[in-house]
Amino acid sequence: MHTPEYVQKLKTGTLSPREELEMEVPYSRDLAEAFWLAAGGSILAARQCLEDRVGISIGGGFHHAFPDHGEGFCMIHDVAVAIRAMQHEAKIRTAMILDCDVHQGNGTAAIFSGTRPVAGALPSSSAPTVHHRPGPPRGKTQGAHARDVFTISLHQHNNYPQYKPPSSIDVDLPDGTGDDDYLAWLDNALSSGLRQFEPEMLCYVAGADPYRLDQLGGLDLTIDGLKKRDELVFRVARARNIPVMVTFAGGYAQNVEDTVTIHSNTVIAAKEVFSTSWPPQPCHPEQSEGSL
Ligand SMILES: [Zn+2]
Repeated sequence: MHTPEYVQKLKTGTLSPREELEMEVPYSRDLAEAFWLAAGGSILAARQCLEDRVGISIGGGFHHAFPDHGEGFCMIHDVAVAIRAMQHEAKIRTAMILDCDVHQGNGTAAIFSGTRPVAGALPSSSAPTVHHRPGPPRGKTQGAHARDVFTISLHQHNNYPQYKPPSSIDVDLPDGTGDDDYLAWLDNALSSGLRQFEPEMLCYVAGADPYRLDQLGGLDLTIDGLKKRDELVFRVARARNIPVMVTFAGGYAQNVEDTVTIHSNTVIAAKEVFSTSWPPQPCHPEQSEGSL
């Protein structure tokens, strides 16, 4: 996933000034170590989810790291590292990345770009645009790394990154998208992805930055809407028996407490969904709604 040349630069501190600028965080050996540790945390979350159905790394989600360079505060793509580690350990063959950070998962798309895009419709600023790319064949697995990871990204269209390498499914959301529309598009994209592909692990990148008061985002989700988002993802994963590993990715709310609440709610949602009986009992109407 990362080129040996890039890894060498990180180890020796020999990034060019331009590369460092692009990463948007100042390089230090300690910071590189921190990113490697975060990747270790995501490996642990992945390993754990395969045993417990859900595993959460309270960090990670560095989805702007490319094979040969870092971008947007991301040095090492911990989720990609975790997937490859699980495959290397022969614990899984296939995985799906569902990226709900407000920024498109450009590094993810670049790393898992084996299924190549067909040009989609031009994005519109007035309505969400969904780009479906041909997915990998079901069950296609071992040794075919370029075709064994399906990527979904729901993001604000008018935001970084300007160039968005194609994911398997991209949902380009217009500015100001609120809870109801967002949840409907999420349900639609996830259902569509799972019709095309059967993952043995779901990697949920649960960014807090679709929040309406986020300083780097332009969507309009509430804290409650974000928790519903998490619940939706966990319910689908649970209903289909897909282990889900979670990373937190971005969150830049004006009040840091809001970001903490959103991230904490992800953990609470996981606990609520995975610790209740299944299928849900009729006396819990919230759980018997099915998908949105
Ligand atoms: Zn983000």
